[in-house]
Amino acid sequence: MYRTLRAIGLLCAVLAFMSDDADFVKDAVAEQSPTETPSAWYPRTEKLRPNEMFVVALGTGMPTPITRGQKSSAWYVELGNGDIFMFDVGSGSMENLFALRPEFHRVDKVFASHLHTDHVGDAAALWVGGWLSGRYTPLHIYGPSGSKPELGTAAFVEGLKKAYAWDIAGRSGILPDAGGQLIAHEFDFKQDGGVVYEKNGVKITSFPAVHVLDGSVSYRLDWKGLSFVFGGDSAPNKWFIERAKGADFVIHELFYTPEGLAKTLGWEARQATFVSSYIHTPPSGFGKIMAEVKPRLAVGYHTIRQPELDMMMIEEVRKVYDGPLVIANDLMAWSITKDQIKQREVVSSERVQAPPTTQAYKEAKRSGEAKYSEFINNGKWKGYTPPPLPEK
Ligand SMILES: [Zn+2]
Ligand SMILES: [Zn+2]
Repeated sequence: MYRTLRAIGLLCAVLAFMSDDADFVKDAVAEQSPTETPSAWYPRTEKLRPNEMFVVALGTGMPTPITRGQKSSAWYVELGNGDIFMFDVGSGSMENLFALRPEFHRVDKVFASHLHTDHVGDAAALWVGGWLSGRYTPLHIYGPSGSKPELGTAAFVEGLKKAYAWDIAGRSGILPDAGGQLIAHEFDFKQDGGVVYEKNGVKITSFPAVHVLDGSVSYRLDWKGLSFVFGGDSAPNKWFIERAKGADFVIHELFYTPEGLAKTLGWEARQATFVSSYIHTPPSGFGKIMAEVKPRLAVGYHTIRQPELDMMMIEEVRKVYDGPLVIANDLMAWSITKDQIKQREVVSSERVQAPPTTQAYKEAKRSGEAKYSEFINNGKWKGYTPPPLPEK
């Protein structure tokens, strides 16, 4: 009984922390400090401050079920210097990316933790959807090697190009040439702290994760004294503890308890325990990791949100970790500076237009010509006359 009451209390504390009144993130059970600052973030209404890091959870779920409320893993990171980074681009996440109405010419870098569909399933949707929406330069996909070449990121990208050859060819001459390019940057999955990206004062390093096969990694982004750590799917691993220590914003998977998984998916105890605790990280492991890492904010994701599962997870985490904590929901947003971490929720229409494109996009070189054969041309119905084509 006491345990249940305690769990309800903790859940309430976390829910209160995540409520509209939450402003400063000090602790999950910290006093609330209602201010006049709105807790909602509206697309295209504010500019980042020069020292601000802005993070949005675009997908916090798994490969199944992908729902209106929860897409698969994807994280949007925008910096005050104008850079935008995507960490993972899991299935369904493009819907939430569009909800932000970002400037797509800046959304040109994806850092994939591994090649499961719930982490890269929308790569093609970003490649083509972003190109149609303002990107006039290539899309860069950074990701790990595998145990053999065909299991690495470069092979994944080559496969996408083959699979979508018709799509890309069909946009030739209509969209900017360079925007149709997809460029893989594969690095050794074994590197521990190796630099994957370094530009404009931003450094991104990678380190290995323990998940199913060789080739799952985590990333750390450092910029202007702020640090963001993104854990790829993994059982608790030594590299994460080392590399994430003391970072500001630390994301790690927070998977079901074995019991929760058995109940939710109807699995047997052995399978549920293996998946939850040997290739993923259950709440007890997540809590231990965060107790060791001591971030300014610990962020859990990669579980289907259900009140009773939340309660089970929070109870387990709180046995070993009492620091700042949030279980992320899709479209939660955080403004991070040296002084504060402010949590809000993206408020966006269910149906949005693509954001406006730039002059540079309009003027970017377009060559080639997509056309069909005489056979298809002869199939045009004589009973319909299209409007005359304007000169420009
Ligand atoms: Zn996953
Ligand atoms: Zn995975």
